Amino acid sequence: MKTIGLLGEMSWESTVTYYQLINQRVKEKLGGLHSAKIILCSIDFSEIELLQRQGKWDGAGLYLANAAQKVEAGGADFLVICTNTMHKVADQIQDRISIPIINIIDATADKILKSNITKVGLLGTRFTMEEDFYKARLLKNNIQTIIPTLSQRDAVHRIIYDELCLGIINPDSKKIYLDIIQDLYQQGAEGIVLGCTEIPLLIQQKDTHVPLYDILVYMRNM
Ligand code: GLU
Repeated sequence: MKTIGLLGEMSWESTVTYYQLINQRVKEKLGGLHSAKIILCSIDFSEIELLQRQGKWDGAGLYLANAAQKVEAGGADFLVICTNTMHKVADQIQDRISIPIINIIDATADKILKSNITKVGLLGTRFTMEEDFYKARLLKNNIQTIIPTLSQRDAVHRIIYDELCLGIINPDSKKIYLDIIQDLYQQGAEGIVLGCTEIPLLIQQKDTHVPLYDILVYMRNM
């Protein structure tokens, strides 16, 4: 069995789900007392969030590269970065380790393509929605992206950091997200990418008729 390296706790509320899902999948595949071999590096998310807010992405990349080196030294065969936003610095991390990073944007694109969908709406942090690292990677897979309006993006971003990363699940926020999903659908999005590991804590497929794509759903159906 390979050893999975995880860069986690961005935020820990969503890393719990990764940890559970990976172990559940191993149990389903191997049965009995089998469990996953995981090297998890837990960082203090407040330190990363500060660097994000200050726009110090090189510093954040270096911080995570150091953590990734510890994961590699611990014997991991590959690395998963348990946050979409920090894929902005994935190349910087990859340059400093020799084990491969499994890119969760590519894994999500793979799932979207299998559904024959070519245009999606993207929800995530403001960095993920507004900058190019996520959208360009989808486009490389011939998937076009549309994003919410400025005020909608503000709401999506605020709810991630002020509520979901703190474990707060608010029905009013759920309604805001579902309205935005419906807007994106009416603008032509055939599906919605939940491009933030905390959003599935708030929104699940049962809440909407619009197909949802996120890395955790992908792992569930692997
Ligand atoms: N976990 C979130 C994501 O998937 C946001 C927190 C972060 O900025 O890393 O993007």
